[in-house]
Amino acid sequence: MSDHVYWNPILETMPREKLQHLQLCKFKRIFKWTYENSIFHRALYKKAGIEPGDIRSLDDVRNIPKVEKSMMQMIQNKDPFPYGDALCVPLEEVSIFRQTSGTTGQPVYQPDTWQDWEWWSECWAYILWSQGYRPKDRVFIPFGYNIFVAFWAGHYAAEKLGCEVVPGGVLDTQARLLKIQELSATAMMATPTYILRMADVAKNKLGIDPSKLSINKITCAGEPGAGIPSTKKRMQDAFGAKVYDHSGATEIGAWSFECQDQPNGMHVNEAMFLVEIEDIETGKMIDEPGKSGKMIITALDRIAQPCIRFDSKDVIEWDSKTCSCGRTFRLIKGGVQGRADDITKVKGVLLSPVAIEEVVRSIDGLGDEFEIIVDKQGDIDRIKLKVELMPDVSKQQIEGKLKDQLRLKTNLGYLIEYYDYGQLPRYEVKAKRFKDLRKKPQ
Ligand SMILES: [Zn+2]
Repeated sequence: MSDHVYWNPILETMPREKLQHLQLCKFKRIFKWTYENSIFHRALYKKAGIEPGDIRSLDDVRNIPKVEKSMMQMIQNKDPFPYGDALCVPLEEVSIFRQTSGTTGQPVYQPDTWQDWEWWSECWAYILWSQGYRPKDRVFIPFGYNIFVAFWAGHYAAEKLGCEVVPGGVLDTQARLLKIQELSATAMMATPTYILRMADVAKNKLGIDPSKLSINKITCAGEPGAGIPSTKKRMQDAFGAKVYDHSGATEIGAWSFECQDQPNGMHVNEAMFLVEIEDIETGKMIDEPGKSGKMIITALDRIAQPCIRFDSKDVIEWDSKTCSCGRTFRLIKGGVQGRADDITKVKGVLLSPVAIEEVVRSIDGLGDEFEIIVDKQGDIDRIKLKVELMPDVSKQQIEGKLKDQLRLKTNLGYLIEYYDYGQLPRYEVKAKRFKDLRKKPQ
């Protein structure tokens, strides 16, 4: 079994026509289920004049109203407590509570039944298998097991594959690294920010070269970093391991993964999800490669609190190429390119923080940490970029290159502030590196 390339060979290599037929069948099923069981969704669809019988093709799906995060926040002020009227099962069938981190306002509560939870870990099983996890692996999970979904499903999926799982829950970073060393763990899962933090602590606090540890593969999630070439390279070089990207969300599920062939992008798990891309400016759907937009996504099998045409705000783009791994699941180019909320106009130019990260992490002599602050000086937009110089590196050695690359990649000028190594904030999970002070606080 462990010689197989695919976790589910039938679904992962299904001809596209059949795959789309499967998506349509599954969409009809989840739409009917939701229409019949969720008070919130039924009211939304009735208002739009859409009933389950109206969905005959994937094109018809586009007429269905989208659901935004702010709607989910409103729902949860209603009965039954604490989930509200999008709940499609009796409360006693809910077996797990999770919530979003609340970085964009009030957190959303996420109920799942046992079936839903089994589905989550099944989605993660596709991810891990495609990234070369096998029963012989000893997987260390350096994550604070708590109300956030993060790597919980990764843990369960690794068990499901037959790996040996080491839950590094409440240990601090040094203790985690020492446990990885002691047990010769072969794989781990964390945010890119935390992977780089672990490398830093290993080198500078423990005197351990992380590339001498036995980790040979790392799965990242929670931030775009593993899809940004310069950040990925820093992680791969530090640990001497392959670093793979994955993207998922509490309200959605684990919808995408980078496979072992590392095609500079991620596969969408199209057996479990229907992904559409919407032009941010025109609202039209983008079917062809070459143009990015925000992702509208449906989880095709999730039943307690369904996710139907959810406006994720993740910016993605279809890739024109197919992957050498043989999966027929479509690729998105370069992974998630950022959040629609974070892509903002500065001096009339679209600025994506991901592009700045790509530049900062590509320059030797700069530390891993950085911060971007957009504000106004009088009427004029200003971007402040804070970076750290590595020990023994001077500002003069890198200033020219940094400014040139920023201008080239983002078409904007920056006020750059240089700090000594160790002065900018460190993060244990997701970093908060981008602030737009021109926006009023919510
Ligand atoms: Zn592939």
